[in-house]
Amino acid sequence: MAEKMSKALREKIKKLKFLGFDVDGVLTDGNVYYSSDGTETKQFNTKDGLGIELAIKAGFTVAIISGRSSTAVSRRAKELGIKIVKQGIKDKKAALASILKSKKIGFSEAAFMGDDLPDLKLRDSVSVFVCPSDAIHAVRERSDVVVSKKGGAGAVREWVDLVLSFTN
Ligand SMILES: [Mg+2]
Repeated sequence: MAEKMSKALREKIKKLKFLGFDVDGVLTDGNVYYSSDGTETKQFNTKDGLGIELAIKAGFTVAIISGRSSTAVSRRAKELGIKIVKQGIKDKKAALASILKSKKIGFSEAAFMGDDLPDLKLRDSVSVFVCPSDAIHAVRERSDVVVSKKGGAGAVREWVDLVLSFTN
C-alpha cells in the first residue's frame, strides 16, 4: 500500500506521534451483543491488539474515543496499555482537541481512524484520517487512507503496521 501512496501522504504519516481510534466498527466489527443480564459484549481482534501494543512500544500516544460506553472497552484498553480512553463521548471533536492539547501534540502529528459519521467530525482536526474498508461510504470518500481490512478484523493492525513501516 505504501508504494501506491502519494509522497505528500507518506510525509504526513512520517510525522505522526498520535494514533486515535474509534471503537465500534474499528476495533470491533461494529456488532454489540447483550447477555441476558444486560451486560454488553464486544469482540476484539488479537492482531489489532498486538498492533496497538507495538505502536505504544514504539512511542506513539494511543487513544480511544468512543460515543458508546462499555466495561468491555475499559478492560480491553487496560489489557493493551491504552491510557487515554474516552467513552460515552457526544462531542468527539472537543474530546480529541482536549487530548491533543494536554499531550502537547500538534495537528500535523495526529491521526484518527473511524468508520462512521461521528468520526467524520474529526476529519479536519487531524493530519491523517484513516478508515477500515467497511466504513460507510461518506467516510471512505473523505479518508486519506482506506485500509484493505475490515473493522475488528485487522484494520487497526494494517494501519499501525503501515505507520510503523515509515518510522522503523
Ligand atoms: Mg464506529
